[in-house]
Amino acid sequence: MNDHNHSPPSNYAPYDRHIDAFFLHFSDHDASPAGDQQPEPPLLRRYWRLLMSFRQRSPLIATVIFSLYALGISLAIMVPINILLDGSLLVGIVISTIICLVIVPMHLYHTLHLIHALEQAREQFRLAAITDPLTGAYNRRWFTQILHQYTAQPVPSFTYLVLMIIDIDHFKTINDTYGHLTGDVVIQHVCTQIRTSIRSTDVLARIGGEEFALIVYAAPDEAMSLAERLRMLVATTPLVHNGMVIACTVSVGIAVVAHPSEVSQLFRYADQALYQAKDQGRNQVVLYEACHWIATDSVVVPER
Ligand code: GH3
Ligand code: MG
Ligand code: MG
Repeated sequence: MNDHNHSPPSNYAPYDRHIDAFFLHFSDHDASPAGDQQPEPPLLRRYWRLLMSFRQRSPLIATVIFSLYALGISLAIMVPINILLDGSLLVGIVISTIICLVIVPMHLYHTLHLIHALEQAREQFRLAAITDPLTGAYNRRWFTQILHQYTAQPVPSFTYLVLMIIDIDHFKTINDTYGHLTGDVVIQHVCTQIRTSIRSTDVLARIGGEEFALIVYAAPDEAMSLAERLRMLVATTPLVHNGMVIACTVSVGIAVVAHPSEVSQLFRYADQALYQAKDQGRNQVVLYEACHWIATDSVVVPER
């Protein structure tokens, strides 16, 4: 992974941050805008944070530690009160111990488990909402949202916003020859090949049946060489499945933009390039400007 050499620009916002922003309202972090929250007593807040940090490691350890903690506080209060009121010290200690070592742990453990289950459910929901179940890549809806954010922010200096559409060639024939289930495995295989060639900060999505889209920040020649590398990798790495060797190829259409631009426009450019790649015989990479140039100041004509 990460073997192409376009380095991330300094103000590059990893897409996980966009995800975090989207799911902010599910978050239990201190993410709500200042002013929305009543200030908590610092001690209580610190206690809660400590409890939550222990809980993340183990609900059981958190329960034990905080029950003992509660016992300490309870005894520190009970003992002086008992002495002051001249009550039975033993009864106070026994009551404190029962409350803190039986009742508190039961409730605390149950509550921490509940929080844990809720967090897991939230994470599953988050992933289901943004990914494609077959490949684990982002889905089209989420990808479009990310692309909207990329096009809304200025492209960092000395780089370009690149959208690639990668489509498996003659996939219908693969389905017809090997069956739909094997077709699914081919889609997964191609996705894996693409993943091995991109950086973790590049955004990959499955936007159609056998169609992937990729956003990277790169110079046009870097984008071309990345796409060429992806194409070569897929073409030279056949899938071995159930004793069969299944070869496939991809065609890639690339749109390169220097300034923020309409998402639909970017898709249109990349689609046109892909169309030309198919038209020219498939298993090749086409850069939008090379196939059809429309003079607008939001599109770069790179030297080739
Ligand atoms: P081209 O080279 O022009 O891209 O031709 P193609 O055969 O790859 O493209 P076409 O659009 O004709 O066929 C795509 C096929 O992909 C048709 C559809 O049944 C199949 N398909 C769509 N989604 C899935 C999927 O999730 N799994 C499988 N196995 N097949 C799918
Ligand atoms: Mg296809
Ligand atoms: Mg297609």
